Amino acid sequence: MALYRLTVKTNSRNEMIDITSEIEKYLKENGFKDGILTVFVPHTTAAVTINENADPSVKRDILFHLAKLIPLNADFKHLEGNSDSHIKTTLVSPSISIIVENGNLVLGTWQSVFFCEFDGPRMRKVYLKFIKG
Ligand code: ZN
Repeated sequence: MALYRLTVKTNSRNEMIDITSEIEKYLKENGFKDGILTVFVPHTTAAVTINENADPSVKRDILFHLAKLIPLNADFKHLEGNSDSHIKTTLVSPSISIIVENGNLVLGTWQSVFFCEFDGPRMRKVYLKFIKG
């Protein structure tokens, strides 16, 4: 099964973008039915997670409290000035796996897959790899 590259355009330094429909489109277009899908973000300042899609305040609260936990300006040695972005990426994770059943992502009612930008705005990549099983 081929590796697929999804492009995500981000608009803010910190942002969560729902990419569930793009992932479902990839499954449908390729006729993938049952297996495991890996979603991998090949960046050091962006991540991927699964969380609530119903109330937009959840995204706000996650980003707000990540920023409180890891401030933009703190005792960092990294000269690029984006250590907060690197730390957030490590905490949230660059990769998730999702069960695919009968062509659908097995997600809870209120769950979506979110691309997490921590050093935008930028053009970003997300790799998708389906493993039949
Ligand atoms: Zn850096």
